[in-house]
Amino acid sequence: MGEKGHGGKEIVERIMNPAEVAGKIKGLTPVPIRSQIANEVIDISFGYFTPLQGFMGKADVDSVCKNMKLTDGTVWSIPIIFDVTEQEIAEYGIKEGENILLTFQGNPMAVFEVKEIFQYDKKEMARAVYGTDEAAHPGCSRTYNYKDKFIGGNITLVNRPKINTPYEPYFIPPLEMRKRFREKGWQRIVAHQTRNVPHTGHEWLMKGAWFQTYAELPIEKPLVGVLVNAIIGEKRKGDYIDEAIILTQDELRKSGYFGDHNHLTSLTFWDMRYAGPREAIFHAALRTNLGLTHHMFGRDHAGVGSYYGAYDAHNLLATVQDELNITPVYSMNWLYCPHCGEITSEGLCNHGKEQQKFSGTLIRSIVQDGVKPPRLIFRPEVFDLVLECAEKYGFGSPFVTEEYLEKRTPVFVIPPLA
Ligand SMILES: [Zn+2]
Repeated sequence: MGEKGHGGKEIVERIMNPAEVAGKIKGLTPVPIRSQIANEVIDISFGYFTPLQGFMGKADVDSVCKNMKLTDGTVWSIPIIFDVTEQEIAEYGIKEGENILLTFQGNPMAVFEVKEIFQYDKKEMARAVYGTDEAAHPGCSRTYNYKDKFIGGNITLVNRPKINTPYEPYFIPPLEMRKRFREKGWQRIVAHQTRNVPHTGHEWLMKGAWFQTYAELPIEKPLVGVLVNAIIGEKRKGDYIDEAIILTQDELRKSGYFGDHNHLTSLTFWDMRYAGPREAIFHAALRTNLGLTHHMFGRDHAGVGSYYGAYDAHNLLATVQDELNITPVYSMNWLYCPHCGEITSEGLCNHGKEQQKFSGTLIRSIVQDGVKPPRLIFRPEVFDLVLECAEKYGFGSPFVTEEYLEKRTPVFVIPPLA
């Protein structure tokens, strides 16, 4: 029985049998790719992007931009494209109808069946996906930085990535993830999308979503899990370092704030586009493919600046809910109330002025000071681990610096072919 993913389509797995690789790649022109593309080659090959079998052709890009659907009618919100320059096309002799060998870090990674070489108006793409064409929007600026031509066609991985320490336990592709869920006996699993080190407000986002997801299910054995799915991709200065994000999220389980019976931490390779509502739709598809039944969506989900309204993502989700196979869980805002003496929600506590909201700036200053905060704000185990990660992986800082960008250990390597 096949595993059904987004759009009711069977989970894609495009990984070549190692015994066939030498014969299939013989004579193909090697074409090096950058990490942005390598991440998405992994996503396509392991089925994170089901039903996509490769990078999109023009008809799909156009249909995604204009109708938020693939040409086969499946809801899809963000173009997945392979960009290339005229010069590269000439230099490598890339031709429609021929295969090329994508290489990363100097080693063979995937066969790319070049079906179509095309152009697409970048401004039009930006407006459709981001609702704006301002270059100040990071998604638009990413779009404008694409090279001028795009290649559509299927991808087959020929060489599995080797995931580096400390990330290896967290790379759990869709088919493997579904197996884990079955082993745990979870009937419902709710996704928590994150790029943060968790303070207690985040912890309660997850706990609240767990309650909401549990709903009417019987409680005599654990049937509901929270999947933390950290987005690992392009970093910007000032972001938390990847090592700190993934390890502290898992620390909440290790230290008993959650347990094996209700919590699992994982990662997905993806560069945030900050597409707000359209990114929420993409997250729904991605997590459906990972086997999740529910997905948390907060205020201004995947937004940036003031481009999107607080509930635009919720509203757009509602328009395609019938076509998604995942139930949205709208997150409450959690805060600390000294009067209640606990973490509570705006919707519960009525101590107005006494309430202390979690602000990014407050948390950042706590981390920067390095003085252990109250355990109702930051779990001591999490806080200690942030500082440890700063020393061990961050060249003294838990936040991304120039030095980190230059010298960090890559999340994965493509090894030489065995
Ligand atoms: Zn209160």
